[in-house]
Amino acid sequence: MSVDRVYLFDTTLRDGAQTTGVDFSLADKIQIAAMLDGLDIDYVEGGYPGANPLDTEFFSEKRTKQARFTAFGMTKKIGRSASNDPGIAALLESKSDAICYVGKAWDYQVRVALEASLEDNLDSARDSVLTAVKAGRETMLDCEHFFDGYKANPDYALSVAKAAYDAGARWVVLCDTNGGTLPHEIERIVGEVIKQIPGDHLGIHAHDDTGQAVANSLAAVRAGVRQIQGTLNGLGERCGNANLATIIPTLKLKSEFSNHVTTGVSDEALKRLTQVSRGLDEILNRSPNRHAPYVGASAFATKAGIHASAVMKDPQTYEHVAPESVGNRRKVLVSDQAGRSNILAELERLGIAVKKDDPRVTRLLDEVKEREGLGYSYEGADASFFLLARRIIGEVPEFFRVERFSVNVERRFVEGSETETVAEAFVKVNVGGEVLISAAEGNGPVNALDLALRKDLGKYQRHIETLAIVDYKVRVFQGGSDAVTRVLIETADKSGERWTTVGVSGNIIDASFQALIDSITYKLLKSGVTA
Ligand SMILES: [Zn+2]
Repeated sequence: MSVDRVYLFDTTLRDGAQTTGVDFSLADKIQIAAMLDGLDIDYVEGGYPGANPLDTEFFSEKRTKQARFTAFGMTKKIGRSASNDPGIAALLESKSDAICYVGKAWDYQVRVALEASLEDNLDSARDSVLTAVKAGRETMLDCEHFFDGYKANPDYALSVAKAAYDAGARWVVLCDTNGGTLPHEIERIVGEVIKQIPGDHLGIHAHDDTGQAVANSLAAVRAGVRQIQGTLNGLGERCGNANLATIIPTLKLKSEFSNHVTTGVSDEALKRLTQVSRGLDEILNRSPNRHAPYVGASAFATKAGIHASAVMKDPQTYEHVAPESVGNRRKVLVSDQAGRSNILAELERLGIAVKKDDPRVTRLLDEVKEREGLGYSYEGADASFFLLARRIIGEVPEFFRVERFSVNVERRFVEGSETETVAEAFVKVNVGGEVLISAAEGNGPVNALDLALRKDLGKYQRHIETLAIVDYKVRVFQGGSDAVTRVLIETADKSGERWTTVGVSGNIIDASFQALIDSITYKLLKSGVTA
């Protein structure tokens, strides 16, 4: 049985940059291009040289080592020749290996949006491809609105695709630009197109407006296309593009695909997938989607006691693929439904050695249940659970003791009726007998407290300097007769490691303080510092 090569084309830096709230800097783009290279992606589309100064600068050098560095741009304007089109000149001047044009394939769009004749639009696709091919570039055409166009006027949509192919385009990419097409339609239409253009010259570009961009891409591969365009984490306008972080492991790990097609992604690169996916979120300053397929923190998490013990006996009972294959990990959640098996599994993962029948495991389980009754939640607060377990099984040194702290929030008039609100915190810490006093201002009380606490911890200072709070969540709920506040703090260090801690109190500052102390203690413990 012959196995076909499927090529992966990433457009995170071009179509992904259309996402609301996403704005890549030059440094971001350089970093992301390198990450994609490390994933063994075949094509990295970097943007639109000539359209804005940032993209022009990005394309002033080749930014990938392995992947083919691809520039995106429009086909030539109607009424001028491709060799005389400034947009195309900018593409050819760029340091790209390949050029991906976008052109219209829907007759209605040509007439209404472009106000051009169908023949002129066809000529634009043909002439633009010819010009890039003649200049020695690998060339492709994204046929915009191909599927809608095909449904409205199959002959015309096909004629655009065919014109590009006949002019020498390496790839003709069928785009579901509105994202409204369904998998069975994709499979049927690709099946028609492939009678005219061979599958190893056809690509798919799907958007997620019906939640099926991945399914649509896979349907197209089943029908014979051999290039997939998508983005990391499904970034993209509206509902996003096809998510390569889902497509890649599916192609590699599911026999339905791996028996028929192969990708350029090595097993080692696949193990970097989780890290790359979360690295992108880091750059975007977003919390990773815990429930993302394959790479989410919850993708291999089990909660209920009965599942947890089965998972420990044989992971295949509840896991469709091995978490390590995509660089993720198995997680057994500690919760109020926790049984002994959950706790034991979690201790094993955290590297805390203990015998199954050790009475301290029962004590830890009782402690977790009691604390969860008070409002603590360890499911999302790994680092606090780690500290709790280490205190009961083993020990946690007292690195420092906060003797007192105070936080003051003041709203004052500055000029006339202008007001400003300032928060100041004061902290008195004892570090191995040495008393250190620090004060700091912040944009809010928790921020001020965090800054004051981390301003001077004496001999530990160098271990905590690069810490930053990346997420702060508050939940207020009724516990007994009073309202109880639970604070979850997610901290990151400069290596990109993240951990979450929890604090509970009737007072939000106090709850935050507990979570901050846990976070610093965890970091010191993990750094191998001794008290
Ligand atoms: Zn698109």
